[in-house]
Amino acid sequence: MTNNTLPTWDLSEYYKGIDDKNIDKDIKKYQKLAQEFNEKYKGRVKNLTIDEFKTALKELETLSNIGHKLAGFSHLNYVTNMLDEKASSLNQKIEEQLTIAGMNLVFWSLEYNKLSDTKQKELIKKLKDYAPYLKRMCKYKKYELSEEVEQTLLAKDITSGSAWVRFYEENMARLEYEVDGKKYNDAEISKLCTSKDEQTRLKAGYETNKVTKENAHWISYCYNMIMKDKAIEDEKRGFKLPMSSRNLAEEVSDETVECLANTVRDNYKNIAWKFYQIKAKLLGKEKIDYWDRNAPLNIDDDKEYKWDESVDMVLSAYKEFSPKLYNIAKDFFENNWIDVAPKKGKRSGAFCSSPLVKEHPFIMLNFVGKRHDVLTLAHELGHGCHHQLRRNNGDLNETCRLTSEEIASVFGEMLVFQSMLKKATTKEEKISLLTTKINDMLNTAFRQIAFHFFEKRAHDERKKGELSSQRLSEIWVEEMKASLGDYVKVGDNADYIWAQVGHFFFLPFYVYAYSFADCVVNSLYWVKMENKVENFEDKYLELLSKTAIGDYKDIFKPFGLNPNDKEFWQGGLNLIGYYIKELEALI
Ligand SMILES: [Zn+2]
Repeated sequence: MTNNTLPTWDLSEYYKGIDDKNIDKDIKKYQKLAQEFNEKYKGRVKNLTIDEFKTALKELETLSNIGHKLAGFSHLNYVTNMLDEKASSLNQKIEEQLTIAGMNLVFWSLEYNKLSDTKQKELIKKLKDYAPYLKRMCKYKKYELSEEVEQTLLAKDITSGSAWVRFYEENMARLEYEVDGKKYNDAEISKLCTSKDEQTRLKAGYETNKVTKENAHWISYCYNMIMKDKAIEDEKRGFKLPMSSRNLAEEVSDETVECLANTVRDNYKNIAWKFYQIKAKLLGKEKIDYWDRNAPLNIDDDKEYKWDESVDMVLSAYKEFSPKLYNIAKDFFENNWIDVAPKKGKRSGAFCSSPLVKEHPFIMLNFVGKRHDVLTLAHELGHGCHHQLRRNNGDLNETCRLTSEEIASVFGEMLVFQSMLKKATTKEEKISLLTTKINDMLNTAFRQIAFHFFEKRAHDERKKGELSSQRLSEIWVEEMKASLGDYVKVGDNADYIWAQVGHFFFLPFYVYAYSFADCVVNSLYWVKMENKVENFEDKYLELLSKTAIGDYKDIFKPFGLNPNDKEFWQGGLNLIGYYIKELEALI
């Protein structure tokens, strides 16, 4: 198939096109309903009967549906037509109109959280269909401040916390890097950092560190401000630890996160260090440079996969695991739900988007036939199936928790990786597959935890005063050395890379979520490999249907897993250890 004949998605089930008159009609409808909702309920939430409350929730569902349909369509249309001004202005217009109209709804959760505990419990008990949504709103009750303070914080955020993030992002994007007389931007230089050619790779890495260090004075100033801003608000709201507010949003306890982080740290030596020792051997070096960690191997193949062949590979791996999952997955290829080929004006990367809870999602790829593209298809298809299993959860109940959002996708990738490994005929192919996989697993499960310890220490020290950029670098190098071990040289080749980790700035304490999700999948996969749980497949699909509405402790119970237990995380890490043993045996 040529690029022109590869499948594209069909958005006409939302709107016929960007000139569809129904778009404006729906915007007006949304504005009208939001205003009516405000007039009808503002100041009255405490007096609503159960039935009236239920009616209000139904109205909110209608609003959410119209809003998501508009935003979903304009966004999906925009990402494949980014050079089209009409597409981008429609996207911008809808975003702005929905935000303005949405102001009418802000009172709702604030008034709901002024209700007594007894009243809230009664609502949750009597309106079972909405219980997850109602419970989720309650969890912020303890930390909410008076309406006046909340409004002030919201207004001041534009000139405090958010302002520093914007300053950081805009100025980082302006940085220029130079290698061999040629200038590169951010995205270009990071691509060079994983070049097959050692000299190019190291030059790009050192240049990244050098430029970052030259800018460290303002970057560390931004970071200090962001940490302090967060600390002021956390203290007012009564959060115990700097990470507590993030954990509340992810609906995991501080103890669970600490258990994960400590378990990963306890495995630095026997897993991460060991792998980098092997990697050094594979690259023919005594010790590897910090910038060699993700270096491709000379034996990595450049084999091309056709689209149809890739679809077959992915679907047959899914089918082998579970015919039920296969049945859900195949719909994506029988309908126009995937936009496959890269084209001019299309966003890079890949994603799966589910604008409407009750409807099927859409998948965007930039498929060029590399092994990585086949695994990306498996990944995004996992997200797609995950959504299909959640369609009956209700518009208000469904939410996005990163800690579980990546379960089905990483699991799907794992299924296809396993089948690739099984089919690999040469030793080189197996070594290449395993090395790439372990590299990815370490970057997600281990590296993100090393990041977590860095930010934990930085925020703790910030309580005593500002940290200099040198001090931040010291902590960074210590955490990197601890996680990477003796076979990786970390020093002035990479001591300012903390300043390149955007999540430290725009989403403090978010990094562990990646490790969390990866370890959960690995744990589940480990349980599957050990064949200890009966009907694993069915239980797994059941788990996927509940990730957004269930308590983690309950949803993992059928697998004999408990996230507060070290064993839960250790099981996941054992899978990485197992792959390392397989790799060792091959070398
Ligand atoms: Zn994903």
